[in-house]
Amino acid sequence: MQSATSEVTRSSTTPRTARGVLARYAEFLPLTAATPALSLAEGDTPLLAAPRLAKWIGVDDLHLKYEGANPSGSFKDRGMVVAVAKAIEAGSTTIICASTGNTSASAAAYAARAGIEAVVLLPAGKVARGKLAQAIMAGATVITLDGNFDQALSVARDLARDYRVALVNSVNPHRIAGQTTAAFEVCDVLGDAPEVVALPVGNGGNVTAYSEGFRIYRDANRSTRMPMFIGAQAAGAAPLVHGAPVANPETVATAIRIGNPASWKSAVNAVTSSGGEFSAVTDDEILESYHKVAELEGVFCEPASAAGIAALRIAVRNGRVAPGMRAVCVLTGNGLKDPDRAVPESFAPAILPADAAELARQLHLTRLS
Ligand SMILES: *Cc1c(COP(=O)(O)O)cnc(C)c1O
Repeated sequence: MQSATSEVTRSSTTPRTARGVLARYAEFLPLTAATPALSLAEGDTPLLAAPRLAKWIGVDDLHLKYEGANPSGSFKDRGMVVAVAKAIEAGSTTIICASTGNTSASAAAYAARAGIEAVVLLPAGKVARGKLAQAIMAGATVITLDGNFDQALSVARDLARDYRVALVNSVNPHRIAGQTTAAFEVCDVLGDAPEVVALPVGNGGNVTAYSEGFRIYRDANRSTRMPMFIGAQAAGAAPLVHGAPVANPETVATAIRIGNPASWKSAVNAVTSSGGEFSAVTDDEILESYHKVAELEGVFCEPASAAGIAALRIAVRNGRVAPGMRAVCVLTGNGLKDPDRAVPESFAPAILPADAAELARQLHLTRLS
C-alpha cells in the first residue's frame, strides 16, 4: 500500500514517538491524503505479564492487554478515531451511534476533538454512570430510548440510511479497521501472535477485528501464526453460544448485554476458523474474575472485560486450552467507568480516631525495636 503524500501515512518517516493509531499503523489503515490526522493518543496500551492471575487460571504464560488505558477508557477508541476521521473526510458534520456506554463515550470524545456533533442513543437505565458522564461532558446529544441496545442500533441504522448523519457503530468497517491495531500491538510486543486470545464478545466487532489484525500481520510476515480465540459471552446474553438471538439479554456485564450481535457472521468465522469456542460465563463467574484480576494483578477492569478471564479459566479446565499455551486476555474497558459495581452505594467505611498508637493496635503492626 503506497499513499506517501498523506500527513498520516508516511510510515517510514513517522517518528517512533508518534502517538495514536493513525500515525503508528498508517500503512495498515484505509487512509488517504484527505484523511484528517485525528488523535487522542489512543492505542499503545500496556501488555502486562500476569503471573499471579496465570496461576489462578491454570496457564504458564498469561498477558493482559489493558485497553482501559485508552483515552476514553476502552478499546472503542481505536476504531472510533478511524471512523470519525473517515466520516469527516466524507464530509460529515454529525455522527450517531447506539451504545451500551463505551461507544458513546468514545464517539463523544472524538467528535469533540474534531469539532463535529455526536448523537448517542442509549438503552434506558442500563448504562454505567461513568460512561454517561463521559458522553455528557464531551457535549454529545445524549438520547435515552425506551428499548434495549439492539433496538437502539436499529434506529441509528435507519437514521444514518435516510438522513445526513454518519453511523459509527462497529457495523461501520472503519471501526473494525481501527480495532485491528490491537492485534498488531500484541505481536509487536510479544514478537509473534500468542497461541490463545480470550476476550468478551458483544456485537462481535472486536473479535472480528483481532482476527483480521492477526491475519494481516501474518500475511505481512510480521508474525507466523493465528491464535485460537475464546469468545466470552454472559450466560444471560449468549446468542453466539446458543446459535440464536436472545430477545431480552440480561447480565451485570452491561457492555456485552447484546441479544443480536451486529457482526454475527464474522465473529463466528473468526472463532470457528481459529479452532476456538464461544463460551457462556455466569454473572457470578464474571464478578469472581473481576475481583481476582484486581486483587492478584492490581488491574481494575469493568465487569464485561473480566468475562474473557472467566472463559479462559473454563477452557483450561475443559481441556480446550493446554496450560502451556501462551495466552492473552483482552481487558476491554476501565473499571473506573462503573464504580457502583465495585463498591455498593451503601458502602460506609468505619471511621477511626486520628491516633497513631490506636491505629497501630488495630492494624496489628509490629513496633520497631
Ligand atoms: C464494546 C465492548 C465489548 C464488546 O465488544 P464487541 O465488539 O461488541 O464484541 C466488550 N467489553 C467492553 C468494555 C466494551 O466496551
